[in-house]
Amino acid sequence: MPCDAAILAEKLARQWERYEAAQELLVRRAVAERPFLENPVSRQEWESLLALDGELAFTESDLRELRSRQRARIEAARAKALRESVIDLAAIRTRGEVSRFCERLPKGAMLHVHPSGTLNRVTAESLVRRNDPLLEIPELIADTEGGLYPDEEAWLGALGGQARFSALSAGDQERFLSFFFLPPGTHPFTRFDAVFSFIGFAADDAEDRFQIFRDFAERAVREGVSYVEFTTGVRKESLPQFELIAQRLEAELGLVVRFNSSFSRRSPPDKHAKQVESLLELQSPFLVGIDLLGNETEAPALETAQLAYGTVLSAVRSGRSRLHRTQHAGELGDPRNPRDALLLGAERLGHGVKLEDDPVTLEYAALRATPIEINLISNLRLRAVEDMRNHPFLRYLRLGLPVSLSTDDEGIFESDINRECETAITSSDVTYAELKRMALNSIDTSFAESTDKARLREKVLEQFRRFESEYAASARN
Ligand SMILES: [Zn+2]
Repeated sequence: MPCDAAILAEKLARQWERYEAAQELLVRRAVAERPFLENPVSRQEWESLLALDGELAFTESDLRELRSRQRARIEAARAKALRESVIDLAAIRTRGEVSRFCERLPKGAMLHVHPSGTLNRVTAESLVRRNDPLLEIPELIADTEGGLYPDEEAWLGALGGQARFSALSAGDQERFLSFFFLPPGTHPFTRFDAVFSFIGFAADDAEDRFQIFRDFAERAVREGVSYVEFTTGVRKESLPQFELIAQRLEAELGLVVRFNSSFSRRSPPDKHAKQVESLLELQSPFLVGIDLLGNETEAPALETAQLAYGTVLSAVRSGRSRLHRTQHAGELGDPRNPRDALLLGAERLGHGVKLEDDPVTLEYAALRATPIEINLISNLRLRAVEDMRNHPFLRYLRLGLPVSLSTDDEGIFESDINRECETAITSSDVTYAELKRMALNSIDTSFAESTDKARLREKVLEQFRRFESEYAASARN
């Protein structure tokens, strides 16, 4: 009789074969005679290919055993990280020096940033006052698609049909500007989505948009960030503008910037089909990948993403494209999304909070060292986690997944990368070695060219050498 461990290993190996078979089906479908649009991979086809049956199916006891082994690995990694830490974070917590520590800590890269979501209060107010937009209230309310709370919608409705911003009373102007940010506390994703209906009023032209990028970039550089990957609507027409933004930010601030072209979960498949074909024609050193974004509830990864991701994966396999793939998956919605995103060819996951609910896919992701872009404050404020102390980021890191920290939409949440660092330190037992690991992970798992990565890694390591020696000196005084 083989022992339990051998049986579990055998079942996992069989499961990985099924995972690979599912990806092969997808790649075949991408080049099949009848294209994705007419002949998508159905949920039933997908699940029956993935399911292990009969004696090979995972039992409750297998899953318990797998979780228990993962817990043991997490515990061993925690102890190792504590031994390797040259700075004692416990002392920093006790002395109340967390903010000061995070201000000075090198951050490496931010891999999960939406440019329009970076707009902060000062910039929003100055742009709206300068551009004095015409507010068409009924259209604006319709655009929020019921995402606002009833009292908010009633207040907006009472402003009437249309008005110039400058014609509002001072109090109304202030309240209108408050809609550019998420109200305090936690909110459903639909309320967050409604914010984007307002943000458009700030920027009028390319120079306004550059100002939003520049304000964010100045803050990021001040906070110790060396590289940013933005997810945004890079299309054939907008690419030159984004290239110019990246060139200016590097020349003016020394910040290296790249872009992932976004696919919206709300767009129909035929729109994704057009978008992906046009994207595959583009060549730019600044355009490094694709990302799928939007509310995951009722927009599962398989059904929403297979066309774009299957097409890009197939193009990469055949040498036609070099685009990388990341995907928002496991923030909300179907718990199978992190698994399906990986099988659809995503190299990184955005958020990935729900990955932990599926210990088999978590094991797969650990084996493959799948990078996870973590945004703690976003996850708390949009209810991806109920309690920050239960956030899985550190368990992922300790299982060997190259986790890194980012801010998602720091303007809307009125946060920044320093707050993410503080949140990590105050809500978990993260060690200094692990904070440093996350900063290096962010560079290593970016979609930058290898020569850029090597240069950035050297820069960040030098920042850490300086940080550690200054820290040692100040700790002695
Ligand atoms: Zn995001």
